[in-house]
Amino acid sequence: MPMRIVIAGAGLAGLSLALALKQALADSHEIVVADPVLAGSPRPDERAYAISAAGRRMFEALGVWGKMADGAQPITDMVITDSRTRDVVRPIYLTFGGETAGAGPAGEPFAHMVWSKVINAELGKACAASGVIMRPDLVREARAGAARTLVHLASGESLGAALVVAADGARSRLREQAGIGWVGWSYGQSGIVATIGHERDHGGRATEHFLPAGPFAILPLPDRADGGHRSSIVWTEATADAAALLALHPEDLLEELETRFGHQLGANQIETPAKAYPLSFGMARRFIGERLALLGDAAHVIHPIAGQGLNLGLKDVAGLAEAIVDAARLGLDVGSSAALAPYEQARRFDTVAMGVVTDGLNKLFSNDLAPVRLARDLGLGLVDRMPGLKDLFIAQAAGRSPSQPRLLRGEPI
Ligand SMILES: Cc1cc2nc3c(=O)[nH]c(=O)nc-3n(C[C@H](O)[C@H](O)[C@H](O)COP(=O)(O)OP(=O)(O)OC[C@H]3O[C@@H](n4cnc5c(N)ncnc54)[C@H](O)[C@@H]3O)c2cc1C
Repeated sequence: MPMRIVIAGAGLAGLSLALALKQALADSHEIVVADPVLAGSPRPDERAYAISAAGRRMFEALGVWGKMADGAQPITDMVITDSRTRDVVRPIYLTFGGETAGAGPAGEPFAHMVWSKVINAELGKACAASGVIMRPDLVREARAGAARTLVHLASGESLGAALVVAADGARSRLREQAGIGWVGWSYGQSGIVATIGHERDHGGRATEHFLPAGPFAILPLPDRADGGHRSSIVWTEATADAAALLALHPEDLLEELETRFGHQLGANQIETPAKAYPLSFGMARRFIGERLALLGDAAHVIHPIAGQGLNLGLKDVAGLAEAIVDAARLGLDVGSSAALAPYEQARRFDTVAMGVVTDGLNKLFSNDLAPVRLARDLGLGLVDRMPGLKDLFIAQAAGRSPSQPRLLRGEPI
């Protein structure tokens, strides 16, 4: 009788973990993913994510990168400006070449823009093909006992499992039921996301304008089939202002957009309905509980200022998969605290550090106070002149660190 691992949540983190575990553990473990969204066709999601080099290496190791790569756009360089909305010229304070330096294959872009729906579809297909059991069901409760945990599904069925993984998003029911504390706050900001068509080629450049209301990111997308050029934006505004902007007539919204986006790429148009996502910070006090591990947004939510939320979740996947598989190969109980402790140790510091950095950056840049402006502009100028420091920032964005799990190095577990 194979041991069972139940993953609650078929978001990109939950599906990635299911695939990694099934590929490594084969028939020794039954891997079940439960999520009501598996019942129908996937939710329409017009978002694209900046996937770091580490995440891409993991997708390569799992054999799903090929199809994702077809529709992906490498980020070839990145510039950061600090200006007011009305400024005509936006001086560039910081530039990054788009390749990871030092370790890793030469010329490897530090990130690719990939459509969320494409990642979701490729992971879903690979999970089904490799024998992951997909249950269109909600996990109501998981009751941990000494030898196993009992997972109650909304359909009324109960499953015994050695381990439950809560990949059920920021408002994780399983985290709450396990009594794991959550430190968090709202930023009072929303991120407006849309796809923008423009006349000129972006050349693979990502741009982040630090405007007084918050960061305004322009992220390059692959051309449309008809050759049209496009980019994705994440436009931060105070939540009330974001709602007011989205209520504008499309032509007025475009005008507001252009005062921030600029005309460097020629005439623009908004291609997809703009949508606002409320932004918050949150961190679980522990990433593991009794026969329970938290994964992705269920463990941490950070500001999208550096496009690292999902990337942190993918690092969780690599760390947790490695801890579970190593334990299984040693014949250990995969739900035991001995099996799960390496996961908590591996992920805690990196996650808290990224949370603190993104929170600090947002607070530093989302204001228009003259002394703060001067300090941050000098700071960015300094970083730009110090290649060692820039390499460090790039390495972070690329997800490289000496002790990273095997999947993030592109190796099988
Ligand atoms: C504006 C914006 C831009 C962003 N840009 C980037 C970026 O460029 N790069 C990046 O790395 N990150 C980015 N992020 C962050 C990224 O969107 C999230 O970190 C990521 O989507 C979280 O994935 P997840 O699988 O952990 O959770 P989710 O995607 O929230 O998935 C959770 C799943 O759990 C299911 N579920 C919930 N409760 C239960 C239950 N009880 N039982 C079963 N299933 C359940 C839900 O139906 C859902 O499918 C951005 C975020 C925002 C807001």
